[in-house]
Amino acid sequence: MPIIRVALPLPIPQLFDYIAEDAVHSDIGRCVRVPFGRGEKSGLIVSLPAEADVDRGRLKVVSHVQREVPALPADWLELVGFVARYYHAPLGEVVALALPPGLRRADGVSGEDVDPLLELSAAGRAALAEARRESRALTLLKATDALGGPARRSAVRALEAGSAVGDLIRRGWLVPRDDGGGRHLAAGRPELTVEQAAVIDTVVAAGTGFHAWLLHGVTGSGKTEVYLRLAERALAAGEQVLMLVPEIALTPQLENRVAQRFPAANVVSLHSGLAEGARSRGFVQALSGHADIVLGTRLSVFAPLPRLGIILVDEEHDASYKQQEGVRYSARDVAVWRARQRAVPVLLGSATPSLESWQHAGNGRYGLLRLTHRAVATTLPKVRAVDIRRMKLDEGLSPALHAAISERLKRREQSLVFINRRGYAPVLSCPACGWVSRCPHCSANLVVHLADRRLRCHHCGCDGGIPHACPSCGNQDIQPFGRGTQRIEARLNELFPEARVLRVDRDAARTRAQWEALLDKIAAGEADILVGTQMMAKGHDFPKLTLVGVVGADSSLHAADFRAPERLFQQLMQVGGRAGRGSLPGEVLIQTEYPGHLLYQHLGRHDFDAFAKMALDERRVACFPPFTHQAMLRADAPALSDAVEFLQHARRLAQSCAPETLRLFDPVPMRMSRLARRERAQLLVEADSRAGLQGFLGQWMTMLYAQRTPRELRWQLDVDPLDV
Ligand code: ADP
Ligand code: ZN
Ligand code: ZN
Repeated sequence: MPIIRVALPLPIPQLFDYIAEDAVHSDIGRCVRVPFGRGEKSGLIVSLPAEADVDRGRLKVVSHVQREVPALPADWLELVGFVARYYHAPLGEVVALALPPGLRRADGVSGEDVDPLLELSAAGRAALAEARRESRALTLLKATDALGGPARRSAVRALEAGSAVGDLIRRGWLVPRDDGGGRHLAAGRPELTVEQAAVIDTVVAAGTGFHAWLLHGVTGSGKTEVYLRLAERALAAGEQVLMLVPEIALTPQLENRVAQRFPAANVVSLHSGLAEGARSRGFVQALSGHADIVLGTRLSVFAPLPRLGIILVDEEHDASYKQQEGVRYSARDVAVWRARQRAVPVLLGSATPSLESWQHAGNGRYGLLRLTHRAVATTLPKVRAVDIRRMKLDEGLSPALHAAISERLKRREQSLVFINRRGYAPVLSCPACGWVSRCPHCSANLVVHLADRRLRCHHCGCDGGIPHACPSCGNQDIQPFGRGTQRIEARLNELFPEARVLRVDRDAARTRAQWEALLDKIAAGEADILVGTQMMAKGHDFPKLTLVGVVGADSSLHAADFRAPERLFQQLMQVGGRAGRGSLPGEVLIQTEYPGHLLYQHLGRHDFDAFAKMALDERRVACFPPFTHQAMLRADAPALSDAVEFLQHARRLAQSCAPETLRLFDPVPMRMSRLARRERAQLLVEADSRAGLQGFLGQWMTMLYAQRTPRELRWQLDVDPLDV
């Protein structure tokens, strides 16, 4: 009787053996359901061992082997195996993360469910002809008409997301059409700039096989066009393209661009916001080779791609590539490993590369490609520091910013007030006694949400009403302190009654449909002043936006987190890049008490190289990554002392196997030590070499997994942590 070895989603690094009567070698990589404890669990067959780990007589029999979809290939098993090894996570948990839930449960999923192409119906044409009012639906209809039909994938996805295209389909204005052939023909592409052509020539000249490239291109330099051209080459060669974006909810524009450029290619998007069925379907299409382009967030790095030809990682510096819970993998780093494994090129693109990638480009591990000019607008925006040291601010707004906004209003251009939210949330405080609205469960302040008049904890999510008087001294005059987007929005409405003020933050754009509606409003010129947070920093084009005012930037200059200046520079450069992308020149005003700070100076000259050199020099001196390699062991428990005690114990274990070069720090409470009623502490480990760190972690984790810990205590390891 054959034995199958199964990875199950359990927090222990162990595989489980079962008997499977009809199992054959080709079942490796298939999902199964197996009896476990008193119930059943879903897992993945990773091998067919000759002998079981335990006594054969004690083996249970597998319940179900899912054979309707192709087995996951060997290279995919290698990939999850690598992630499990490198991040020291149980293989079953990595598998559970990498597979869509529907597929893993071994539900019936079919790969044959190809989405229909759509075209304008007679009713749609009639609606277009009769239309008087310009609506989003009509704009879409027109676009569809102009393209001769192909609304295809994005339309079906939109249907699932319940947005405007979905409406068109429900009304019968868009209907399925026949696939007219002509696959992979690129539609309506611009002539490449000299720089773009040179970049593509370099990548092409390097030939097939593994090459890692860092594409450093200023905002608006046409990096996306480079991705699209490289994708086009891969498609023409019959290969699949994997394109990673940091946050798909923020990038419908990119999805549309890809779908429009390759109307007949099967573009599959994969992200956690999809309905389960859609995610499974997309995954199976990738696996079966039916998907030509997989576009998605970090989890799509796990899409199986039998014909993989190239991997493209947009905005590679973005922190959302790093998973912050469970298996804490970096999709960007995994993408590079995967490219090497599959012997294909990988291109990491950014206007503000991470210092890690920049360092790799500096020492030759990555090839450096550059786009130094904007593709369309002739100049980069003017960046100016506004010295606010001896200035009276009006709700955080300086007279200079006020004047600049007025000027834009006169010229009928758009302004953006960008709020650096790190350390800048509106909390409720009492000027009489100093009381501050704190979360009862976390060491965080509650944030004031004026729209629904609630106080909310952004960490654990608990919320309550806004008190009318200070709970501590009874003072009736309690004020929101700090300047959140909502307060600035309210003040701008008072200052500029004739202007249309639009707030763009997580509250205003909770769903993708809301976000798209906001983007449409901005693009259609239905807003004069935008108030936004980091959501606004990501690659969007707003041709009428010519002014960006930055409020609260300084709070990141002196933050405890050594990565804070890097993030600030990235964010300001990105958000500044939103200004003046059309034919109008842009301006960026940064309100600061440190106008002479080198970070702002480099920013003013758009000199990423100088900033990166300065920041890397600082990191080298201080022995921070990328000059050292880190791992963080975190523990949480109802009582802080339990968490710290566990880490002290772990530290003693570490001392027994740590090489000389390893640095073990003392356990400390985390900066946000209390989260959702649990106390958290952490222990930092550093080594000069990655190999040294990995060797140690392997031994240490084996010891830690063997420990018995109190039930209420949880611990996790974070390799290459971003928040230290
Ligand atoms: P990035 O991603 O580098 O910020 P984009 O790829 O979004 O830049 O390009 C910025 C703008 O320039 C877009 O409107 C794009 O359509 C346009 N563009 C890019 N390349 C070209 C080109 N070769 N010719 C004309 N327009 C281009
Ligand atoms: Zn809380
Ligand atoms: Zn008080």
